[in-house]
Amino acid sequence: MSLFDKFEKNAALYNELSEAGRNPFTVQMDRMLGPTRAIVKGKEIVLAGTNNYLGLTFSEEAVAAAQRAIAEQGTGTTGSRFANGTYAGHRALESELAAFLGYGHCVVFSTGYQANLGAIAALAAPGKDVILIDADCHACIYDGCQLSGAETVRFRHNSPEDLDKRLARLAGDGKGKLVCIEGMYSMFGDVAPVGEFADVTKKHGAFLFLDEAHSFGVFGAGGRGVAEQDGAIEKVDFYSGTFSKSLASIGGFVASNHRELEYLRFSSRPYMFTASPSPANIAAASAALHYISSDPSLRERLWANARRVHAAFTQLGFEICAPVSPVIAVKLPDKETAFAAWNFLIENGVYVNLAIPPGTPNATSILRLSVSAAHSDEDLDIVIDVYGEMAHAFAKARVSAPVQ
Ligand code: PMP
Repeated sequence: MSLFDKFEKNAALYNELSEAGRNPFTVQMDRMLGPTRAIVKGKEIVLAGTNNYLGLTFSEEAVAAAQRAIAEQGTGTTGSRFANGTYAGHRALESELAAFLGYGHCVVFSTGYQANLGAIAALAAPGKDVILIDADCHACIYDGCQLSGAETVRFRHNSPEDLDKRLARLAGDGKGKLVCIEGMYSMFGDVAPVGEFADVTKKHGAFLFLDEAHSFGVFGAGGRGVAEQDGAIEKVDFYSGTFSKSLASIGGFVASNHRELEYLRFSSRPYMFTASPSPANIAAASAALHYISSDPSLRERLWANARRVHAAFTQLGFEICAPVSPVIAVKLPDKETAFAAWNFLIENGVYVNLAIPPGTPNATSILRLSVSAAHSDEDLDIVIDVYGEMAHAFAKARVSAPVQ
């Protein structure tokens, strides 16, 4: 037995990818031209596999705010939130996020990953609590469960009925219950019935933890996520999000009406033992939040783009994993077809995400495209044309004949 034996399975998959053509793990943006274009291997590519849903990474306001913050506060904080790394900007952004969402408290972490990891691990304790987690939750929610040491029970994806059954079975055990779900799921773009989950959670006296990483700024009349769309914001106990998608930066947060959220500041290891987000990251996120809270036009543009691509792909005969949302995942029959189709797309100027088992729900192989408000009509013409060519080159990639 060698220390390195454990890598063999993943290394074999990695090699298989390399043999099939370009390896998605090795894609490098040689030069960014804007939120939706980059130079890759000397060629201009349309980026359609980012999480830049509102396209704000190049907005004048976010760039200027980040530049100002660097000039005034330096390039890094060199300390964690509970040591020297809390600046006025961190606290101000916490207040802005809490006010925007309508919660009394908010804690900012260095990444979205750490927000989920740090909050879940601090909220649930071994022997005392049970975490109930949607089977399709993101790795960082699973990692939070593991770090907490609490018993963890998975329930069927997007099934409040299954959650209800499992909570009923646990009734009377005297343990605290934390239910973890997401708003929109990043791989398929499918949406949780957050309102129904909130009702089931309350019925059993449990606490609801909702990750709106992909839905913040995107769903809801005011951009407050699926919880807003479902009229359920007040029923959510812990609302987490990231700065790395619609907020055009890096960092994460958890907001809540429970004043005990503040205890995370001295109980959460991923909050306490890592450097805080840099002033530039905070300033850019704050500028993007200002945009989201004051201007719905980007959200409208995003949804118009999503509707256009979803309709075009349906006409091309692809099987799409979910109804219209900014994530449009095309299901492919096997990973070999997925490798080849992904290579075809990038060779022809379109970057999307290749997602294959074990990283996908139900062991499916998909091409995950995400739409941005920054995609121009011309960007989307290219995407749709190249997918059309791919549909002809790989008949197996389709479930029906293209509509002419
Ligand atoms: N939650 C979900 C659902 C995610 O998809 C991700 C990352 N893609 C995260 C949290 C972590 O966010 P971050 O990139 O800010 O660490």
